[in-house]
Amino acid sequence: MPVIFKCECGQEYISVPNKYIGKPFRCLVCQTLSAVPSPNDLEEKGKKEKNTHLSNPQ
Ligand SMILES: [Zn+2]
Repeated sequence: MPVIFKCECGQEYISVPNKYIGKPFRCLVCQTLSAVPSPNDLEEKGKKEKNTHLSNPQ
């Protein structure tokens, strides 16, 4: 599954190889080194932000 990585400069990379997940990736535009987040991390983050007001159903 390709990873979508967006640099802080706004440049998007829509097919970052999985091997770059969690590793420094140098943006070709601004030359900034950033760690590529894993898709799971992004998903978890989204869930947490969505459900902050909900209590545990158990
Ligand atoms: Zn950049």
